[in-house]
Amino acid sequence: MDEIEHFTDDRHKAWCIHCGSPIIDRHTNRDHVPTKGLLERPLPPHVPQVEVCKECNTGFSLDEEYFVTFLSCVQAGSADPSAQRNPKIGRALIRNPSLSARLEAAKQITADEYGRQQILWLPEIERIHRVILKNARGHAFYEYGEPMLDDPVSVSAVPLISMNHEQRSNFEEAGGPFTCWPEVGSRMMTRVMTGQDLDDGWVNVQDDIYRYVVFQQGILTVRSVIHNYLATEVIWE
Ligand SMILES: [Zn+2]
Repeated sequence: MDEIEHFTDDRHKAWCIHCGSPIIDRHTNRDHVPTKGLLERPLPPHVPQVEVCKECNTGFSLDEEYFVTFLSCVQAGSADPSAQRNPKIGRALIRNPSLSARLEAAKQITADEYGRQQILWLPEIERIHRVILKNARGHAFYEYGEPMLDDPVSVSAVPLISMNHEQRSNFEEAGGPFTCWPEVGSRMMTRVMTGQDLDDGWVNVQDDIYRYVVFQQGILTVRSVIHNYLATEVIWE
């Protein structure tokens, strides 16, 4: 990815985008958006970062660990540490028996109508939603300079394969021609003008690993596709 200058209102940079507290005189961290653990090493250059208060930054770490490990287990089809593609996640499962037990509990084995075994994964959805919302706030702030401190009207996460053809094309459509142009000076405007890191309107962070789109048509919507598996959406009025 390339670094993009932006010139949106500096007043918005005075608060933590998660808790709304002033970040002047507070310990802050530069936080990667998306969550670093969702990307593959080596990280792409210039992954977007936003400044958040230290409490918020550390406050998300258990949820993020759960999310990253959950995705890995789903893709491996197993919560077995040795089955994980990333050995670091395998080691985390061994080190953390309670995380391992929770992921084992998320895996449900059912049979389809022909008696064939099927694996269904039922995550702790609040944790998944908190990470999605955290990243969406980061994407909105990075691209539009907008701190979205209010609660969103909806947060969702569904596997791409569970969408029918129409749902899928509506979801992807977000990256279509902009009906409403982003504010001048915002990073999203620079992307629209230059095509920087844009792929059919989506910001491509890492091929097949993470892409997102932020668009505003009265309401502000952030969508992401994670590991070509999970489709997420957060909407603010
Ligand atoms: Zn905070």
